[in-house]
Amino acid sequence: MSQPHEGKILIVDDSPRDIEKLYALLKDRYQVIFAQNATKALNLAKNERPDLILSDIMMPDISGLEFCAQLKSQEITRHIPLIFLTGKSQIDDMVQGFEVGAADYITKPVNATELILRVGTHLTLRKTSHQLSEAKRKEVVYSRQLEKALLVGNRHDKEAVNKKPRILIIDDSIANIQNLNEILKDDYEILFATSGEDGIQKALTDRIDLILLDIQMPGMNGYEVCRELKSIDETHDIPVIFVTAMDEVKDEAEGLDAGAIDYIVKPYSHRIVEARVRNHMELIRHRDLLRDLSLTDGLTGLPNRRQFDQILVREWRRGERQATPLSLMVIDLDNFKLYNDHFGHQEGDNCLRKVAATLNATRSRLTDFVGRYGGEEFVAILPDTLHQGAIKMAGRILQAIRESKIPHPYNDGKEFVTVSIGLYSAVPSEQASAENIVREADRALYMAKEAGRNQVVALQESAS
Ligand code: GH3
Ligand code: MG
Ligand code: MG
Repeated sequence: MSQPHEGKILIVDDSPRDIEKLYALLKDRYQVIFAQNATKALNLAKNERPDLILSDIMMPDISGLEFCAQLKSQEITRHIPLIFLTGKSQIDDMVQGFEVGAADYITKPVNATELILRVGTHLTLRKTSHQLSEAKRKEVVYSRQLEKALLVGNRHDKEAVNKKPRILIIDDSIANIQNLNEILKDDYEILFATSGEDGIQKALTDRIDLILLDIQMPGMNGYEVCRELKSIDETHDIPVIFVTAMDEVKDEAEGLDAGAIDYIVKPYSHRIVEARVRNHMELIRHRDLLRDLSLTDGLTGLPNRRQFDQILVREWRRGERQATPLSLMVIDLDNFKLYNDHFGHQEGDNCLRKVAATLNATRSRLTDFVGRYGGEEFVAILPDTLHQGAIKMAGRILQAIRESKIPHPYNDGKEFVTVSIGLYSAVPSEQASAENIVREADRALYMAKEAGRNQVVALQESAS
């Protein structure tokens, strides 16, 4: 009977006792295979394709370091992450381990908390990178360039793109902060706070990707800070890594209970800090990319309906708070069924992509949102835009689509692809609702179609 498992793990260790101990800790969640020497392990790695390898460093035939180097030199095994199992006295070997391509290490004697934590991190990383390459293979993202451009514009945070990831170091010792800063400053933007209270404040007001947190501090200690960060919506998702001198098992467990994802024990080598931070940054990047993908339309690279729903609610609330008007457009291709019937579905898809790119290019302000609502229907949200301004914008869209001159011989004699636009403007209030303005824009679109297509019908909230 095959058991459901969260991954296949290869344990390489010459001590049967150590294998047994690891097996006991892992068997409930993972499929575990093992080898007692490196030669056998290389074969198993090739034939069984484990998701992760846990390897001892001292072994009878070839050393763990050599084993790792060989694994990394072969195409079919080089992507399998390897974690070294190492005694505290072997920290120097471990630093070499990173040089030959190890992903991480676990200190012996192995404690369950650390094992589950590191194994979990690397298996998750492997899973998310599979999901991402799967998405790429299916060409879910047909143009990285376009996707990036769209996400920048639509997410209101263009500064977040093309910038180094940000790390917040919270530590009462300036010397420690300087130390970590020295190690990380080339690859990351570093912010720091010398107290827990100040750290929480910074996490709330600055965009932070990852937090390195000291445990022993006057005032709030690290555990308290971590618990507080995890209880606040705005900071809940920021991963926290403890940097701690207290290398006792119970402290590690307490840190993880508080919501940390990892810890680094002082004194550390800079390679360890680099590797841990890099691993978690990679996880964060994968998480963000996967979230972006789930909010992006696969065909056009535009934000999808799901993202539209979220942004509309957000803009609606903002309009309500600031008492500013909001305009919404529903943009629908004219006689598109006939286009498909004539040119085929593939060409129909290409046409939708071109229209999407044109719509995206007509966005006048970075705060304007354009997305694919579904089928051959697109939507645009124009926050803080009055009725007249929105009508002008819609006119520009009609023109831009016509001028892109995509041939369409069956478009009521118009030769080229055209769109009809339903527009509705309102000042968000408690009486009105976000769904209501979508309904009204739809009604306007219907009227535009009835009136002969290739035109805008604009409605607005009746003054009362
Ligand atoms: P109208 O001017 O009244 O909007 O007419 P229409 O033909 O555009 O509208 P209708 O709703 O009758 O047909 C929409 C067509 O859009 C039907 C479908 O084949 C096509 N369509 C919807 N989604 C896609 C898509 O993802 N790819 C392609 N190629 N065609 C699509
Ligand atoms: Mg249509
Ligand atoms: Mg339609």
